[in-house]
Parts: sequence; structure tokens; C-alpha cells
Amino acid sequence: MAKPTPQRKPASTSATIYEQAKKQLPEDFYALYRVVDRIARANEFDNRPWRIVAIPKYNVNAFATDVNLIAVYDGILDQLAGDSSALACVVAHEMGHHAKRHIATGVTQKTELIAKIEEEAKREVLGEQEAANNESTAAVVGGAVVNRVVGGTIGGLLGSVLGNQGVQRQADSQKRINQIIEKKKQELEERLAAQERQHEFEADEIGYIASVKAGFEPEGCLRVMQVLSQIPGSETDTDHPAVPKRIEAIKALMIKYPPQTLAKEGEARISKTKPLTYNLSKDQTSLRINSTRGGSQADDIDRRFGK
Ligand SMILES: [Zn+2]
Repeated sequence: MAKPTPQRKPASTSATIYEQAKKQLPEDFYALYRVVDRIARANEFDNRPWRIVAIPKYNVNAFATDVNLIAVYDGILDQLAGDSSALACVVAHEMGHHAKRHIATGVTQKTELIAKIEEEAKREVLGEQEAANNESTAAVVGGAVVNRVVGGTIGGLLGSVLGNQGVQRQADSQKRINQIIEKKKQELEERLAAQERQHEFEADEIGYIASVKAGFEPEGCLRVMQVLSQIPGSETDTDHPAVPKRIEAIKALMIKYPPQTLAKEGEARISKTKPLTYNLSKDQTSLRINSTRGGSQADDIDRRFGK
């Protein structure tokens, strides 16, 4: 009996796909691909495609926007060079904003809330005025019924007196409406800033948990904070919590969720899943890391109905 010929490795083994990625992708994208692949698989974030956009600008920052899009500035890639654990913490933080739907609420909510504030202020002032109008009419003519019965000349006179008062009153009302709007807008800004700080803490928590589950060093998150603390103005930024508070919170997370336990959980899931595929945009400025469904409609149709 002839010896069975050794099977060739299937093209989708991790070694092959990662080797290919390393040859094909610009270095930063290769790193981001590997980071997203591990974080997504270890944390069950692999049910959706992720898009990474590189912004060629020296900002030490990254942000989450649109649907599952993560923008990474050159500056942060440069500052975190050689530290994939720190990069993983940043990426996991942004994935956390998406997972918690922080962006969706943020933008639309604010526009809606401001419209509501303006409406409320008008109703508050004009409602008061209407009540006052009713009172003064009643005082002058001794009640609405008399007003209606008398009509004619007296009614006309009464109308012009109220009309003159009306101009002044209108100006006063507008002023009051504006004052109320200003005050409520300021309260809203404060509330939103507090919410944003809360969101940052939540994203930091996911940043730590998800990157450590993906096998990266827990200290990576602390090293990111070290870099952020050096950005001028970081102490006075009111939308973000102060860096020392974020460091404190991360240290507390390290105790609450021991790294070894997280890493073990993540590894179990990674070992049960296959590497995610990716597509680099033609202009090489964005990378899509596909969900477990892959990134090709054509391949999916072939799979379903044959070629
Ligand atoms: Zn954030």
C-alpha cells in the first residue's frame, strides 16, 4: 500500500494568512490587523466587520466614529511604536465605544436635546404670558363674558391697549426665553461632559479587559496613559477624565479582573476560531477586518449555490 502523500496545509491556516498579511500590508496596518483580529476573536467582537482608517496627521489620538470605524492618527502609532500591548489597549478602547454604542447616542442626542430645550423655554415663557393675558383681560373688563358682550368700540380700544403692552411684553418674553435657553444649554453641556467622562471610563474598562483577553500585557494600558499625560492641555480637558484618575481606575481593574484569568478566557475563544480575513482599500488608507462571515459577497454566493 502506497504511503499517503502528506497533505498540504490549507490556505487559511493562521501562519499562511498572517504571512501573506505581513507581505501585503503596510507595517502599521499589519499591526492593526493582528491586534483587531485577536481582540475581536477573544471578545466575540467578530460578528461585525471593523474598519480602520489611518489619518496622516501627527495627533496622539484615535477615535471611534460611524459604524465600527476606528480612526488612528499617525502620532499615536509613532508614540506607541514597538509596544503592541499599548496599541491593543487603544484599539480595544475604541472598539469598546462601538460595542457600548457611545457614538450613536452622543451626536444625535445632543441635537435633539437642544431642540427640546428651545421648545420648552418657549412653552414655559409663552405659557406664563398666556395665563397673564387672561388675567389682565379679566381685570379690565371684569371677565371674559363681558368682553364678548360689549364688543365694538370698547373692544377695539381694549385691543390697542393690550397691543402696545404686547410689543414690550414680546421683547421681554424673547429675552426670558433666551435666558432660559442659555441656562439649560449650559446645564446640558455639563451633563454631556459628565456623560462623556463616564463613557471614557467604560471604554477604558473594555480597553483593559478586551486587550488582556486577547493576550496583550495589562501594563499596555498604563503605558498609553503615560503618553496621554504628556499631551499639553490634558490636565484641563473637561470632556475626558483626568489621566491620574484613569490610571487609578485601570489599576483597580487589574485587581478586579486578574490578567491571567482574562487571558485564559480569551485564549479559549481564540483557539476555537479562525483568523479573520481583511481587505485593504485601493488607496491603502483604510483596512477592513472582516467578520467571521468574511468580506466577499461573491464568495458567499459561490458557497451557497456553487460556482
Ligand atoms: Zn474614548
